[in-house]
Amino acid sequence: MRSFLSKLLRTQPRGLDKMAEVIEKEVWAEINCLSCANCCKSMTPTFTKKDIDRISAHFDQTPSEFKEKWLEKDRNGDWMNVKRPCQFLDKKTHMCSIYEIRPSDCAGFPHLSKKRMIDYIHVHKQNIEYCPATYSMVQKMQLKFSEK
Ligand code: SF4
Ligand code: SF4
Repeated sequence: MRSFLSKLLRTQPRGLDKMAEVIEKEVWAEINCLSCANCCKSMTPTFTKKDIDRISAHFDQTPSEFKEKWLEKDRNGDWMNVKRPCQFLDKKTHMCSIYEIRPSDCAGFPHLSKKRMIDYIHVHKQNIEYCPATYSMVQKMQLKFSEK
């Protein structure tokens, strides 16, 4: 699957973004994130400054207190969770306890159809291992290309 994605990146076939849009609908008709939550269990979102300001205010913390308690900087200087699963994943319901104010990265995840899918190929390459929706999208794309 990763080789297939690399080939897409190399060849940049026409109509890819439109295809991703159609396939995304098919994927979400089959996959329910509420019965998965694997991204919250095994990955970390990137927290932007806006995310940190918003979520820390919700908990009556300063941004520094929030970062001190939950986050660390990765080698690119981005703020990430220290813990997996995410501290905001409710242990009983397996749902996000801060859903309305969750990081924008979580709100957009797994970024299946974007204006330029090519810009997200590297993200999909990482996520096929963790995200059934990404896996399914790549599988469906492989099928469509094999039918051409
Ligand atoms: S903030 Fe919510 S949606 Fe984002 S990883 Fe944590 S539990 Fe999941
Ligand atoms: S890993 Fe993918 S399918 Fe599972 S909850 Fe996250 S976005 Fe949904």
